[in-house]
Amino acid sequence: MQSLGNESELAIQKDQQYLWHNITPYSEKNPPMIAAAASGSWVTDIDGNKFLDGMSGLWCVNVGYGRKELAEAAYHQLLSLPYFPLTQSHMPAIALAEKLNEWLEGDYVIFFSNSGSEANEAAFKIARQYQQQIGQHYRHKFIARYRGYHGSSLGALSATGQAQRKYKYEPLSGGFLHVAPPDSYRRPAGMTVEEFNLQSAQAIEDTMVWEGVETVAAVIMEPVITGGGVIVPHQVYLDRVQEICRRHGVLLIIDEVICGFGRSGRKFGHHNFGVKPDIITMAKGLTSAYLPLSATAVRKDIYDAFKDNSDDYGHFRHVNTFGGNPAACALALRNLEILEQENLVERADMLGKRLAAGFAELLDHKLVGDIRSFGLVIGIELVADKATKQPADLAVVKGIIGGCKTKGLIIGKNGDTVAGFNNVLTIAPPLSSTDEDIQFIIDTVKAVLNGSSAE
Ligand code: PMP
Repeated sequence: MQSLGNESELAIQKDQQYLWHNITPYSEKNPPMIAAAASGSWVTDIDGNKFLDGMSGLWCVNVGYGRKELAEAAYHQLLSLPYFPLTQSHMPAIALAEKLNEWLEGDYVIFFSNSGSEANEAAFKIARQYQQQIGQHYRHKFIARYRGYHGSSLGALSATGQAQRKYKYEPLSGGFLHVAPPDSYRRPAGMTVEEFNLQSAQAIEDTMVWEGVETVAAVIMEPVITGGGVIVPHQVYLDRVQEICRRHGVLLIIDEVICGFGRSGRKFGHHNFGVKPDIITMAKGLTSAYLPLSATAVRKDIYDAFKDNSDDYGHFRHVNTFGGNPAACALALRNLEILEQENLVERADMLGKRLAAGFAELLDHKLVGDIRSFGLVIGIELVADKATKQPADLAVVKGIIGGCKTKGLIIGKNGDTVAGFNNVLTIAPPLSSTDEDIQFIIDTVKAVLNGSSAE
């Protein structure tokens, strides 16, 4: 018999015995936080301790926790029609697809799945099949960026450009190529940000040419690399990437899994740059993570190449049992209404600017090499040496994150130990955060950094 400790000790024992955590190894010294409840931007653990969730879970609880309206939307839908496959149709999926089209400000047709990874898998299959159906039979390759993340399933992981997540599972899917991202902080001396961004975009065209342009199906990128270290491109980068893709008949897939649904301070991240993607993938903020749902939005004329093809092989042979679950769709619709009614997209923009202004003086701190922001996403790049920009040690980064947690604030970091980039603190609280929440984040991060021994 196990000895019965108090309730949380027992929960931790059982957690260790039965639960396999995502990405995080079990640590006796540092057991998991077991969440019990949440409201607004705050999560309470089973011992009653409160933490401000400065990462909105995994960048996803856009409208904040504890929204009764979302629970009710799902509840009512579960009672009337809990499930029907999207081999046929149902009203919540139709209504949500229409609403997404309005949010996207373009002419798109929506394919539903359950996760960001699956939304990207669908995008890759659609891109390859589309190229075949318009007679471009050799176009099967994808170009993505190092440091980008696109998911955990084998295709989406193949598109991912972070060695640490991949090397134990290789070889992955064939046909995925990578180029360096426009990391302007580390641009060569003497080069302007604009010149460097144009050069970074040129790397994509060069790769197409070396590979044989007629073998490339699509380019995939986030508007801004988020989880890979908050790498914000200059406007010229996305303009040039779009121009290169169009000129060479290559589709542009934009991964809005994190940047979408107001996180970027606009409805979608790519709206900040005025580009018109061919395919857009989204998840997380679509339901504010209250239920699993993701979507692949495809330009109408691409969809048309699948639609009127009487040949049996002409349609998209991709099925997803749970994708577009009626309750998830009904909840997502309500989630979009909340974002609209409470002006949370504009609020994200305002709060992001306030956080960035609050952190600005940290640039004088010995450990802080760069601070970057995009909507309500902040990245604070920690370095061991400001002159060489050598990334700070992982132990230092973890010390700062641990220090914040001790003071009641959850923040995150990017991660690629293998490539040596593990040094960007990430902050992305709910879009509904209060003014006091934002001040608490600023005060806490500053207090921890200023109290760190490396100062
Ligand atoms: N794309 C991006 C940009 C992401 O950040 C993520 C998840 N962090 C994914 C795709 C994969 O989403 P999921 O974990 O829902 O499969």
